[in-house]
Amino acid sequence: MGRNNRSSGGGAKYFIIMMMIYAALTHCSNEDINLNRDKSNELAGSNIESMLEEVEQITGIEASNNDNLVIIHAAINNSNLSDEEKAIVYSFADIINDNPYIDSNSAYGSIGNVDIFYVPRPDGTSETILGDFNFNKDIINIYTESDSLKRETQIHELLHCLFTNYRNVNIPVFLAEGVTEILVNEYFTPNPFVEESSYPYEVALTKLLCEMVEPDRVLEAYTTGNMNVIKDELRKYEGTGDATTFINASDRVLERLESGREIDPETYNYMINYLDTYFNNKYSDDNEKMEIYNYYRGMLAQIPSEDRYTEYWNYIYENGYYERAYFSSKLKLIYGNDSVRDNVSEEVNPVLKK
Ligand SMILES: [Zn+2]
Repeated sequence: MGRNNRSSGGGAKYFIIMMMIYAALTHCSNEDINLNRDKSNELAGSNIESMLEEVEQITGIEASNNDNLVIIHAAINNSNLSDEEKAIVYSFADIINDNPYIDSNSAYGSIGNVDIFYVPRPDGTSETILGDFNFNKDIINIYTESDSLKRETQIHELLHCLFTNYRNVNIPVFLAEGVTEILVNEYFTPNPFVEESSYPYEVALTKLLCEMVEPDRVLEAYTTGNMNVIKDELRKYEGTGDATTFINASDRVLERLESGREIDPETYNYMINYLDTYFNNKYSDDNEKMEIYNYYRGMLAQIPSEDRYTEYWNYIYENGYYERAYFSSKLKLIYGNDSVRDNVSEEVNPVLKK
């Protein structure tokens, strides 16, 4: 597929700016949701213990300490998946271990039935869309032909498949994509702290939410679909704003960004003013928190720009990035709670994938 592959020259910095999008989940009607509900009882009456033993034997994953790892068993038994695709699901063991909120019944049904198709991008679909997960049909379509992006897309869509159920399918899209991408980054990519291929502003806003309420609350809302888990925390400090209006405004701003429509200034300003008020009320004595806030606030300030993806990379080059883990317990062990800011050197930067 012909991409505008600019080359660098003259010592000047040329970045190939190519932010990719994984299509959002297909919208579900109630009827479709009932279909999914029917298949979510597959674990009832099963002998979980022997299934976990089988998981251990076949994958080598230590499974006896977490019943949720029975989800891996669904992949072993899913004849739609190739060995390569199954191996990706096996590599979700750390993500499953780090998430106590996962609905293993639903996930077992989805992972056990999912099928992945490698198909040409449908006519009229943007070249930046790499793939999608259709929750109604339990089907993943992969459109990208690039090897490195293919793997990242497989992981991203299989994570949607693992986590999406009728309770959480309608959470704000920025949160669904933001958390999913942070999971891909923290568990699978060489630089877990910089979003390189897609949804950079969803990731930035999701990280700010993690700073406002505990990351664990964000993970809980993402996994269970209960947005009150986040809103109840926000309401303790909001001051002049309203948590529901803030979440809706954020959803709308990011939705407009992804659909290529003009950002409505009033909605954007509400989102930013809410963030300002919240951080100033809650963290006025916490310099580290305010520094982190100002960093991400500066990043979000690029949203209204027409050239927002170029500006995103310029921002990363000028300001570096925070080595801060939100969900991966292994990364947290390595990096602790430090908020070290690191710089991107041109060698390190694999710049962009096409
Ligand atoms: Zn997605």
